[in-house]
Formats: sequence, C-alpha cells, structure tokens
Amino acid sequence: MPTGPETGGGAATRCGFVAVLGAPNVGKSTLVNRLVGAKVSIVSPKVQTTRSRVLGILIEGPSQIVLVDTPGIFAPRRRLDRAMIAAAWGGAADADVVCLLVDCAKPDSDDTRRIVGQLKKSRREAVLVLNKVDLIEKSALLALAARFDSEGLFTDTLMVSALTGDGVGDLLSLLAGRVPEGPWLFPEDQISDMPERLLAAEITREKLYLQLRQELPYAATVETETWTENADGSVRIDQVIFVEKPTQKAIILGKGGQRIKALGAAARTELEDLLERRVHLFVFVKVRERWGDDPERYRDLGLDFNA
Ligand code: GDP
Ligand code: MG
Repeated sequence: MPTGPETGGGAATRCGFVAVLGAPNVGKSTLVNRLVGAKVSIVSPKVQTTRSRVLGILIEGPSQIVLVDTPGIFAPRRRLDRAMIAAAWGGAADADVVCLLVDCAKPDSDDTRRIVGQLKKSRREAVLVLNKVDLIEKSALLALAARFDSEGLFTDTLMVSALTGDGVGDLLSLLAGRVPEGPWLFPEDQISDMPERLLAAEITREKLYLQLRQELPYAATVETETWTENADGSVRIDQVIFVEKPTQKAIILGKGGQRIKALGAAARTELEDLLERRVHLFVFVKVRERWGDDPERYRDLGLDFNA
C-alpha cells in the first residue's frame, strides 16, 4: 500500500485534478460526496448553491484524485454569475480530466447543451457521466448514451447513480487510471482543502437558502468570524450573515428572531454530525451594502472580479 509520494517501490503514484461539470441539480455535489465518502460539498434539493469552488480529495490505490466541484454553469446575468462561470471554466481548463454530468431524467437542459458546446469549442475531451440511472428504464438509458456518443466529444460513458452508489466504483477506477503519474499533492488524511470554518459557513448558507428559497438568492453571504476550541471538547463558532439591505436582515431574523433561531439550530445539528462533537453556534446578521460589487469579496470566494 503506497502511503504517499515518498513511498519507494510498488506502483508509481498518480495525482490529478478532475473537474465535475454539469447543469444545476444534475447531482454534482452528491457525486463528489459519494466519491469522497464524506460531506464536503453542499447538496441542495432545488437549485445550485455552490458558490465557492470546493475540492474533494480521494485516494484510490496509487492515485490521488482531486475533485473540483464547480459552480453550475448557466447563462450569466450579473457580475457574480459571470465570475462563477469563469471559475468553472478555469477549473475545467486546469483539470486533467473533465467529467460532464448529465441528469438522465432531464437530459435536454439548455445548460447541458451550452456546456457541450463550450467543450467542443475548446476541443476538450470529456468523460460522460449519466447520473440518476435509478430514475429511468434501461432501454431509455442506452438510447440516451448513444445520443450523447454521437457528439464525438466523450472518451467514455459511465452510468451511475450518485444517490445509490450504483456504478460509482467504475467511475472511481476510471478516474484513478486517468490522472497522470506524479507525486501526491495533499496529505493522505485530507479529504477537503476547504478549511473547517469555510465549510461551517457553507452549511449555514445552505440552511439559509433552504429556508428562504427565492426570497434571497444571492444577496447573502455567511462568514465564520471566530472558532474557539473549548476545554470540554466542544467548539464555539461565531458566524455573521451579511446582507445588502435592512429589509433582508428583517427577513432572516424573522418574527421575534424565530427564523434565525431555527436556521441556527439546523446548522448546528449538521455541524455536530460532521465534526462529531458538540457545537455552540452563534449566528448574527449584518448589513453590508453592495458586496456584489466589492472586489475583496470575490477574492475571498476565489473568484475573479473582472471575469
Ligand atoms: P448539483 O446542483 O449538481 O450539485 O446537484 P446536487 O448534488 O445538489 O443534487 C440535486 C438533487 O438531485 C438532490 O436532491 C439530490 O439528492 C438529487 N440526486 C443526485 N444524484 C441523484 C441520483 O443518482 N438519483 C436520484 N434519484 N437523485 C439524485
Ligand atoms: Mg452542487
């Protein structure tokens, strides 16, 4: 068993970046989580919530695979949207392997068509991953595979269910063989390069998103301000939800603070599961105007302001 780049003998180590592309809701986060075997990326039942680029890192035999769970690629409207798309394509350009994820039950989305077009334009080969096979008949699945194959873009077609794990092992083996030979870039025990405080902020943002849905799509960001380890093994986490307008603050607080209380409780429960320890979570709301036009914020999110 190789233990890292310094291991002598045996199979040479491999290491590479795998970009996971796909329209919102096709199951990118679910697949990354399934592959890595721990929750590193936020899963949403509705629309895409992934704003920061999240890396999942996994090891399969001699290969270290760094998964880039890209933000959804969709039609840009605002500056932030454009920055997210630039980040997604940046991830794809840097990657050793590109996986295009398609939802079998909804294969004809505009977003998927747009991504296929982009890949063709940039002459980028890709691995096609037909996800959610649990939702369709085998014959329909084969027809779908044939249709995508005729694009002449895909080196391989895999059929998986990120939800049940069906076919995910085959995908893992394929990726392990595709990443180039080279030393591992990350320590073996590191499943995500996302610092815990950023992950904690993502979880609260997910709860916020689930509670408010369309009321507050991009206006809010969450930051973990302090992280204090307590002697009894618990951790105190202080977070701030930043919004653009006082009216948004009122929405998040809810009547008598009920909404933020519920939100904090949900986030705390999930954090305790994830960190496997007691968590004292304190969430505050502050108004910070026009953050969407602040270059500083884009840098914090790893995005390019000038995209
Ligand atoms: P993303 O926007 O591409 O990251 O998609 P998510 O991973 O957030 O998944 C979107 C929704 O699809 C969630 O409700 C998932 O539970 C669901 N989903 C993901 N993979 C599968 C699958 O293989 N089968 C089924 N039935 N649902 C899935
Ligand atoms: Mg996602």
